Amino acid sequence: MGKAIAIDGPSASGKSSVSKGVAVELGFIYVDSGALYRGVTWQAIRTGVDTTDSAAVLDSMHHAEWDFFVQEGAAIFSIDGDVPVQELREKGVREAVAGVAAISEVRKFVVESLQSLENFGSLVMEGRDIGTVVFPDSPYKFYLDADPEERAMRRYRELVAAGEDEKAHEVMDSLKKRDQIDSTRKADPLVVAPGAQKIDSTSMTLDEVVQAVVDAVKEGL
Ligand code: C5P
Repeated sequence: MGKAIAIDGPSASGKSSVSKGVAVELGFIYVDSGALYRGVTWQAIRTGVDTTDSAAVLDSMHHAEWDFFVQEGAAIFSIDGDVPVQELREKGVREAVAGVAAISEVRKFVVESLQSLENFGSLVMEGRDIGTVVFPDSPYKFYLDADPEERAMRRYRELVAAGEDEKAHEVMDSLKKRDQIDSTRKADPLVVAPGAQKIDSTSMTLDEVVQAVVDAVKEGL
């Protein structure tokens, strides 16, 4: 069985960039677990489902054909033959995803799908509950955090760079709202996993954080 490195933390804490960097350094497969929750949300929206209707969301999720594969060092998926990438970042998905991710049957489906990816090899997986729920036995767990203002600025810059028309204060508000939903929901809330190494990236560069994780993994923790 391959290794699974768990990298958890709130929105815009730098998880994606750090996880991708660590995956490249170690030659592991990068997995964005949030993409699956976004995928379930996107599938519901494109099939005309009201995302606040749990039963309808589950119906659209179960009726779709999901396939997982590895491309350019990352695990990705298709839904009914389509591979959504940019679509997963759209505003409609962004606004509905935390609600969809709070549905426990959605979580069960996503967690089992994520666990099955170990068949592809060693993984670096980013998310909210990777160290607590998906791979609780992994000896390689990290919890990344940064000040909320810093996280909002990072997300804002990302969105502007992607050509989105956003206001900084709106990004801050939506981030706070998502943090609130993610850390207070009943099903697998965002918490620091037992045994996880905490890294505050507020005043660290990306390379420094990547190196800190890689060093810790190489030391075998
Ligand atoms: O990481 P990302 O912002 O793409 O995640 C989108 C949403 O998916 C989060 O706000 C959260 O509600 C949910 N999520 C989750 N558990 C994970 C990853 C993401 O609940 N492991």
